[in-house]
Amino acid sequence: MKTYRRTATNWLEIQGETGVPLDRAPWLGGAAAGPAVALGAARFVAPVWPSKILCVGKNYRAHAKEMGGEVPSEPLLFMKPHSSLLDPGGTVRLPRESERVEYEAELAVVIGRRGRRIPAEQALGHVFGYAVACDVTARDLQRKDGQWTRAKGFDTFCPVGAEIATGIDPSALALRLSVNGELRQDGTTSDMVFDVATLVAYASNVMTLLPGDLILTGTPEGVGLLRAGDRVSVQIERVGSLEFDVASE
Ligand code: ZN
Repeated sequence: MKTYRRTATNWLEIQGETGVPLDRAPWLGGAAAGPAVALGAARFVAPVWPSKILCVGKNYRAHAKEMGGEVPSEPLLFMKPHSSLLDPGGTVRLPRESERVEYEAELAVVIGRRGRRIPAEQALGHVFGYAVACDVTARDLQRKDGQWTRAKGFDTFCPVGAEIATGIDPSALALRLSVNGELRQDGTTSDMVFDVATLVAYASNVMTLLPGDLILTGTPEGVGLLRAGDRVSVQIERVGSLEFDVASE
């Protein structure tokens, strides 16, 4: 298992309290490009620069139920724009168009190898690693619009944790989200309706997956309202953590 982070200038391979700068993204074969630097002094940015951010709706049974629906018979894909990415420790801005912005804690898959029509049994071989993400959603606009581009697509609506963790099994990871220190979501990835391999294979039947692409795999039950002044913390076992603040636009 290796862990990577990214600063404004380099990807870093994490070794204890230090990071070794890499000459390119780790999924492109990044090699050491200088002496290790202390992590304490570094400011981290989102560890991916994806060509696309794919997401999966209603991929946990209990969440589909709390949304008032059944689980889909096939993975329900939608996208968030690149401009929705928020660096770790950043601030989600509540847009004036919405009166109900909600959090959704999610395991994010980072694609490492290009592929189209990837068989499910080969799909995990196209995954580089995993990150913590939050699929921030303007719930009122999601219901009003029918399709979700606006509700999911505002700037800052895709906070991503600093770490990418590699070499882990994604099938049974505890996933928790707290708002102001109060636990709101407490799930496990073993409750996913469609597992990571199925999602990667399914998405690749539609579009070529490129190294660095991100797939948010859905949220467990317990979604709820974000208010200006909130501090949100998301943890996924063995992957890492994510914190962000919430403020009005
Ligand atoms: Zn979601």
